[in-house]
Amino acid sequence: MRHMIRAEYRAPEAPEEEERPPRRAGDPVSWHMVRGEGAVAMCGKELAPDADTRPDDAWGTDLGAPFCHTCGALYLREVP
Ligand SMILES: [Zn+2]
Repeated sequence: MRHMIRAEYRAPEAPEEEERPPRRAGDPVSWHMVRGEGAVAMCGKELAPDADTRPDDAWGTDLGAPFCHTCGALYLREVP
């Protein structure tokens, strides 16, 4: 099973707000691991389908935002 690192951005703005910047504005707040090319992280978090991705071998390197600890633990259990 292939894995991929996917970015999490700041939570969507409140719907009653108007003229907000697009969801992807700014840098990722953290990185999660997804199975295949999915948009749901291994920890269960739903991520934007168009969020930035990185190859899974970039896990543990400096991507400018922290990695999700839950995803990391699950990933290491699946990948020898
Ligand atoms: Zn996660």
